[in-house]
Amino acid sequence: MRVIDTLRLTAEELNAILTRGEASSREIFDAYRAAIEERDGELHCFLHVHDGEGEGIPIALKDVIGTMGVETTAGSRILAGYVPVYDSTVAARCKAGGLRLLGKTNTDEFAMGSSTENSAFGPSRNPWDPARVPGGSGGGSAAAVAAGMAPWALGSDTGGSIKQPSALCGNVGLRPTYGTVSRYGVVAFASSLDQVGPVTKTVRDNALLYSVIAGRDPADSTTVDVPATELPEAEDLNGLRIGVPVEMRDAPGIEPGVAAAVARAVALCEELGAEVDECSLPRSVEYGLPCYYLIAPAEASSNLARYDGVRYGYRADGDNLTQVYERTRDEGFGDEPKRRIMLGTYALSAGYYEAFYGKAQQVRTVIIREHAEVFERFDLIVSATSPTVAFEIGERADDPLAMYASDLLTIPSCIAGLPGLSIPCGLSDGLPVGLQLIGPQLSENTLFRAGHALERALDFDFVPERLQ
Ligand code: GLN
Repeated sequence: MRVIDTLRLTAEELNAILTRGEASSREIFDAYRAAIEERDGELHCFLHVHDGEGEGIPIALKDVIGTMGVETTAGSRILAGYVPVYDSTVAARCKAGGLRLLGKTNTDEFAMGSSTENSAFGPSRNPWDPARVPGGSGGGSAAAVAAGMAPWALGSDTGGSIKQPSALCGNVGLRPTYGTVSRYGVVAFASSLDQVGPVTKTVRDNALLYSVIAGRDPADSTTVDVPATELPEAEDLNGLRIGVPVEMRDAPGIEPGVAAAVARAVALCEELGAEVDECSLPRSVEYGLPCYYLIAPAEASSNLARYDGVRYGYRADGDNLTQVYERTRDEGFGDEPKRRIMLGTYALSAGYYEAFYGKAQQVRTVIIREHAEVFERFDLIVSATSPTVAFEIGERADDPLAMYASDLLTIPSCIAGLPGLSIPCGLSDGLPVGLQLIGPQLSENTLFRAGHALERALDFDFVPERLQ
């Protein structure tokens, strides 16, 4: 038996070790369990650790992903104790693909946040610097992969919750094209935006995991047939036209160290054979955040209406049904879901619907068209994933608008339903910087190809220095 270095081994390498019979599934699983034992006390990535039987490569799932027989809380007290009686399609596909559940990872409550500090069960910490956030909402999945507590994981992304934590933890994260991955059995936040996707150490692992979960699902009518995933091999970018949206490059609030790492990656794109030119997404960048913060809370206010103390999880006592509803929701929801339920209910109310929700939907169409125009000239666009590296725990917790600004660069493409891949492109002050690659709908294979070539050339060491 060989030593299983959970910090370094990719899922692809683990699979080779298994195939060659150098270690058993049990030994591999136990190695990750031991890493969780050792590091999760500090980092708090897991809400539940699972010990089920089975063979195969271990995987961690964000706790918005419904798992039969395993508590699924979405980071909320209102779902505490909720044990789904069925698997989400993605969980079922992981099982069918020979993956074995390691545990459920921490998330901002109902995936609302950018730091995992909104989890009702306490924040996760960044393995590169535990005084800092791992990003969010999927900070638990990202930090678990970066700290060698899971070889790979699934997250969910509404406005950046896969891409941004992957950037802040030095991982590869894919938010797939809307409609390629089933939302059946996944706790809903904003249904027209939510998409599940892989968080991995390498682009090839990302492509492998995407191929396990993607594809039409009769249980989710928004899903489509997906082109076969191509495992990337090429180490050049020959023939690719890459756009740099100037409003993203020059956006206010981009840290100099982030801008510098991204500029180096853009220069590298040219060296690798891509044709690089500037492009423009003025309205998407200016109106993306306000548009998102109308649409997402509006849909959330409707989706969260189901938590009434009768059907799921937590129930407060009351003298009558109305009081049970009111107390359950008052005690069960934290501040951020409450804020969004109020905003969303207002935006949808008679008399305001056209002015807010209706207008935001019109802006969404403008953003979709603006991206479509850019993709007439370019195969991909690139920007920073997050304007900043990982920030300190507590730094933005009391300032919702500063927290919302974390998603300035991830949100526009989410609104347009487009796929985005974040890969690490360097360090700034010893913390990872993410590069975001966006393509047109169903361009995952192009994103993998470009991401893999860049990953090879960048040669980023994904093991946090303090854990080496
Ligand atoms: N940070 C964004 C929000 O708070 C995006 C979250 C997500 O993608 N789930 O809504």
